[in-house]
Amino acid sequence: MAAEAGAPTPADIYRARARIAGRVARTPLLSSPRLARACGADSVSLKLEMLQPSGAFKLRGATHALLALAPETRARGVVTASTGNHGRALAWAARAEGVACTVCLSALVPANKVAAVRELGAEVVLAGDDQDAAVAEALRLAETRGLGYIPPFDHPDVIAGQGTLGLELLEDAPDLDTLLVPLSGGGLLAGVALAVKAVKPDVHVVGISPQRGAAMIESLRAGRPVEVAEETTLADSLGGGIGLDNRYSFALVRALADTVVQVSEAEIAAAMRELHRHERLVTEGAAAVGAALLARGEVPGGGRRAVVLVTGNNVDMDRFTRLICERD
Ligand SMILES: *Cc1c(COP(=O)(O)O)cnc(C)c1O
Repeated sequence: MAAEAGAPTPADIYRARARIAGRVARTPLLSSPRLARACGADSVSLKLEMLQPSGAFKLRGATHALLALAPETRARGVVTASTGNHGRALAWAARAEGVACTVCLSALVPANKVAAVRELGAEVVLAGDDQDAAVAEALRLAETRGLGYIPPFDHPDVIAGQGTLGLELLEDAPDLDTLLVPLSGGGLLAGVALAVKAVKPDVHVVGISPQRGAAMIESLRAGRPVEVAEETTLADSLGGGIGLDNRYSFALVRALADTVVQVSEAEIAAAMRELHRHERLVTEGAAAVGAALLARGEVPGGGRRAVVLVTGNNVDMDRFTRLICERD
C-alpha cells in the first residue's frame, strides 16, 4: 500500500472508537430477506447509518477529528466548507462539545442550506462564487485564526473515525464476505475496509458511485486523481471531486476496493422506493446505491453474505414523497 506519512492504520481506528464512544450511535443491522432473494445470497444485512443523530455516518469522522485536535486549537474552533452531511456532522459535533464551528459557503449554496447550517449553531461565512473559493477561504481562516480545518474525507482522523463503523460490522456480522459501500471521496470506504480487512482480508469490498460525476472511479481508471464535470444526481452526497492533491483516500481506495461499479439514476430511484416499501426506510440517493446494485440480481464476487452500508437520510421530504409515489 502507498504509505503516505500519517496515513491511518487499523490501530488508529480502534483508538478512534474509544475516543468517540458514547458520542455517536452504534447503529443496528437490519436483515433484508427481499434483497437476499433478489441477488441470490444467503443473507443481506443493511447497516443503518442514517440513524446517526446528524442523519449520516459522517458524524463518526467529524467527531473523531474534532476530538483529536490539540486542546488549544479546539478552544479556537473548527472550520470546514461542506454544506452536505459533513458540514452538518461537524456543526453537530462542535455544538455537542461546545466548540465554535465556522462553515464557509459559496454564493452557489441555496438559502435553505445556508439556514440549515446556521440552525445547527455554526457561523456561516459567505465566500466566493464556487466550492473551490469556499475551501480556499476555510483554509485561510484556519491559517489566520488558528482554527482546525476538518475536510470531509481526505484526512487521517476523519478516515479513522469512519472506520469505527467497520469494527461494529466485525462484531455484528462476523461472517460477512461482501461489503457494499457508497463511494465519493473515499473516506468511508478507506476507513471501513481498513478495519474489516485487517481482521478478514478476504472480504470483497465493492465501491458504488452514480454514473454521473464519479470522480473517484474516473481517478482509479486514470491511475491518478482527475477532475470530472459535476452533474446533478439523486445521489447528491456522492458528488464533488476527490482533490487533485489528494493525499490519503485515493491511495487507500485503490489498495482496498476489490470492485467499483456505477449505478444509474433510475436504479437509484427504484432502490429508494423499494427500501421504503419493504424495509420502511427513508434513505437519500447516496444511501441506496448498494441496494440498487444488488437489485441487478447478483453479488459482485459471488459472495453469499453481504452487508450494505445505508449511509444517510438527508433528503428533501417533499421530493422523497413524490419519488416513492412514482411507478418504476
Ligand atoms: C459522504 C457520503 C458518502 C460517501 O462518503 P465518502 O467518504 O465521501 O466516500 C456516502 N453516503 C452519504 C450519505 C454521504 O454523506
